[in-house]
Amino acid sequence: MDASVEGIHYLLNKPLKATDKWTSKAFRGLKNALQRIKDPSTYLNIDTYRRAVKDINRVVEKSVESDRIKVSLGDYTDKRLSPLSINDLLYAARHFQENPFYPYFSKRLSGFLQHNGKLLFGFSINYLSQVLTAFAMMGFLKNVNPTVEIIAGGGLITSWMKRYKGLRCFQGVIDHMVPGPGEIPLLNMVGVKPERAFYTPSFNNFPWDSYLSPGYVVPYNTSTGCYWRRCRFCPEVAERTGYQQITKDEVREDLSKLRGEINPALFHITDNAISPNMLLSLTKNRIDTPWYGFVRPTKELTDTAFLEALKRSGCVMLKLGIESGSQDVLDMMNKGCDIKTISYVLKALHNAGIGTYVYLLFGTPWETEDKARETLDFVVEHERFIDFLNLAIFNLPVNSGEAEGIYTDDFYEGDLTLYKDFKHPKGWGRKEVRSFLDNVFKKEPSIRGILKRHPFFFSSNHAPFFVIHSRKGNVL
Ligand code: SF4
Repeated sequence: MDASVEGIHYLLNKPLKATDKWTSKAFRGLKNALQRIKDPSTYLNIDTYRRAVKDINRVVEKSVESDRIKVSLGDYTDKRLSPLSINDLLYAARHFQENPFYPYFSKRLSGFLQHNGKLLFGFSINYLSQVLTAFAMMGFLKNVNPTVEIIAGGGLITSWMKRYKGLRCFQGVIDHMVPGPGEIPLLNMVGVKPERAFYTPSFNNFPWDSYLSPGYVVPYNTSTGCYWRRCRFCPEVAERTGYQQITKDEVREDLSKLRGEINPALFHITDNAISPNMLLSLTKNRIDTPWYGFVRPTKELTDTAFLEALKRSGCVMLKLGIESGSQDVLDMMNKGCDIKTISYVLKALHNAGIGTYVYLLFGTPWETEDKARETLDFVVEHERFIDFLNLAIFNLPVNSGEAEGIYTDDFYEGDLTLYKDFKHPKGWGRKEVRSFLDNVFKKEPSIRGILKRHPFFFSSNHAPFFVIHSRKGNVL
């Protein structure tokens, strides 16, 4: 089950007493807004899209009547409980009735509890916004039937286990925690001997028509870890995640099977970075469904013939972690990319008709304001070739081997914190970076133009639809 999408629809279907004009209008127009978000023509106009998303989000926010808990399409926050505190997580499990999703999950999970025999529940927890509700759900299950066994995995659990070595369970709530891919450990737990290292994901029970998108988007990994694994301060490196690549034949078979079963509008290749070899294989075996994913800006992506083949294979957009427009900063980060190649890649992708979603990272220990201005100049110079931009401020992962010699302090309050605050060695701290981004970078007219296209809340998940539909109408 996908409790996230079911929970959002539970909130959207609740009766709502609107106390202001916007909420009342958004609630009355909700059916319409939900239709618009699924209508491909909405992705021709960012303003129509924004209005629909803002109205849906307004109803979600206002359907939680609490001074303490705030829920939006993209987040869940509780003024009293931190998702990074063990005590607060245990509180959320014990006081599950306080969670705004309690009426939904108590009913939904009770259905499973009718089953006779041994009961195992697995929770995949990937984001901080999911964790307090996941603990409330697990607390509810244990309260109703203390013999159920609970297994937790997913990206966030993996990060916690890698950074806090002693963490193996949460007494009375989670019985087993599984880091990394969970299929094989889960099979072992239920006494089934795994026959292969990777299995084709099964999406049979997912409520496909409930997702807020103009077609089904199917996630698929061709690898786990990262084939490059050298960027300094990257969490993948700090967590020493091993790299495993699924064979090209298995990827081809899996994608073809999923295409036949689900008929997706889009495949999201969720690798940290799709390897050049896998890209080459994708060009040879056409997926016949549009797809997008993360890549490193390597020289292969400057080859026009290669990019045309990639485009024919269905590639509509590539996400690129460019991070900085300064060669010095890229070198110090160990990105393994040179700025000239990055420039060629952006131009070549644009010319091939493949959308670009560029990620920039400010405030790394090697950056100064001058270097950040080099990034600004680079973006201005390449404005025509960048469809979407994501701006982030650097966080220092806990347990990073690179942190030696840098003064650090706890960044968030809580015993499960993932990042540390640090004193920037060149005085280019978070406050200065934020001020630069707000008052200089985002004020630049050409950059403002790119940022205006940013899809609210759904960001890169909806961006490919803008590329697909607006390129058909030649708008972007
Ligand atoms: S390419 Fe991305 S995932 Fe790989 S090491 Fe660099 S930052 Fe990390």
